[in-house]
Amino acid sequence: MLSPFINETYLDFSIPANRKSMMDAIGLVEGTFGRHYPLNVGGKEIYTDREIASLNPSDPSQVVGFVSSATPEIADQAVRAAHEAFAAWSSWQPEARARILLRAAAIMRRRRLELDAVEVLEAGKPWLEADADVAEAIDFCEFYAREAIRYGAPQPTVQLPGEEDTACYIPCGVTVVIPPWNFPLAIACGMTTAALVAGNTVVLKPASPTPVIAWYLAQILREAGLPEGVLQFCPGSGGAMGDTLVAHPLTRIIAFTGSMSVGIHINELASKVQPGQIWLKRVIAEMGGKDAIVVCDDADDLCEAARGAVAAAFGYQGQKCSACSRLIVMDEVYDKVVACVVEATREITVGASKDLASRMGPVITESAMKSIMAYIEIGNGEGTLLCGGFRAEGPGYFLQPTVFGDVKQGARIEQEEIFGPVLAITRAVDFDDALRIANGTIYGLTGALYSRSRQRLERARREFHVGNLYLNRKCTGAMVGAHPFGGFNMSGTDSKAGGRDYLALFMQGKSVAERM
Ligand code: NAP
Ligand code: MG
Repeated sequence: MLSPFINETYLDFSIPANRKSMMDAIGLVEGTFGRHYPLNVGGKEIYTDREIASLNPSDPSQVVGFVSSATPEIADQAVRAAHEAFAAWSSWQPEARARILLRAAAIMRRRRLELDAVEVLEAGKPWLEADADVAEAIDFCEFYAREAIRYGAPQPTVQLPGEEDTACYIPCGVTVVIPPWNFPLAIACGMTTAALVAGNTVVLKPASPTPVIAWYLAQILREAGLPEGVLQFCPGSGGAMGDTLVAHPLTRIIAFTGSMSVGIHINELASKVQPGQIWLKRVIAEMGGKDAIVVCDDADDLCEAARGAVAAAFGYQGQKCSACSRLIVMDEVYDKVVACVVEATREITVGASKDLASRMGPVITESAMKSIMAYIEIGNGEGTLLCGGFRAEGPGYFLQPTVFGDVKQGARIEQEEIFGPVLAITRAVDFDDALRIANGTIYGLTGALYSRSRQRLERARREFHVGNLYLNRKCTGAMVGAHPFGGFNMSGTDSKAGGRDYLALFMQGKSVAERM
């Protein structure tokens, strides 16, 4: 019997010994810079001539690692290899598969700081954000291991007279896992381990900015006892080989987390039945957000609400699908809240992620930086620049945390996902107006409301149309098991990762009735 699931706690970097260990781990990982990492297909390592150079966004002159890059031909081999391994792997007992996840969690715990350090250097995560991501990866392993055992038990059915009526869940087949770079271990690990523990074989195509941490994940799963060929580690350019994975007739499930445009493309391509394909593919697509925090005139503590919004807007440089990119404030308290937001934003230090003192690190790539700067340009025509607005000093992709006030509902910076440290503040005339503005985008991922009024809180529960709603707290920081995660409308298929329904997405139900 496993003990009940509990969330992993975060490391306390105010303790000098922890700080020292983390500095050592960063030094250790810096010592691996420039290494070459192979693909793994059918249990064989493959080094390709073309490689992805994974850069340190805090200093892009540093190459964290050169990772082999799959061509469409290799992608095709990877799906075939996964298909071949399916018959054996799918016959394993759920408990046995679960043990591999539990062991992977144990390995990640032992290598916690090393994994933290890779994220700091490859993804530009500040220490605490990196550690939270690694903790979440461990949580996914522990949670889905227990879920697999729960789903593996006989499912309750009505017994018709004269029959034995049973129902169970069985695996589906080859699952193509396509994660984003922003939770480069947690999301890659969550989607991969869910697919695996449900009995599917996997082709993992990590996001191109963060393939090294994904290589660690694949290694850890092998070390934990995953048989060769069950997981193909298959980095490559999504634009160049993604379609091969998605369109492949042997692909059964696509588990994608990323932008709306790529999610729509994958959904369309996967819906086309290819020659030789004998099923309709299942697409799990978790996409973008334009998440809002609403502050009411009756909020308990207006500055507390403002600080929540600032933390949610600028944590990991605003590069979270759950990030607060819109702050909606009721007229009566607008000036007070905005003043607190500006004050809290000005306190944020920007710098290299490996320095614990940096509250904000760099954005992920040069093209992300350019795209965010273009939105800041647009924002200058749509609102009043209250702080930031420019690049921050240093060799990396550093941007100042940026706040625009008096942004009108419908403005581009109020409607489009920017995915960077840019917050748009909008004034609402009353509570109805605030809810209308909050719901007024094509997305529906996270949202938060600060109010003391029971009536308003209850209305928000019913009418604030987001997959993850938070009341009197910020809209980021979903915890496995406590906050099953996934959004509505163009935020995706509402998969509710880290919740009790998630594993069912990777399985099919089978009913067996025997006449006695
Ligand atoms: P992205 O550009 O859509 O990329 C996501 C993944 O899709 C990457 O692995 C990418 O590979 C791959 N890809 C690109 N084109 C493809 C194609 N034609 N076929 C198959 N795969 C393809 O998103 P991102 O920049 O990595 O991540 C940021 C986005 O993710 C934001 O929109 C954010 O809101 C969203 N997100 C959502 C959630 C959620 O739970 N809802 C969580 C986290 C992030 P390459 O890197 O090689 O292009
Ligand atoms: Mg990088």
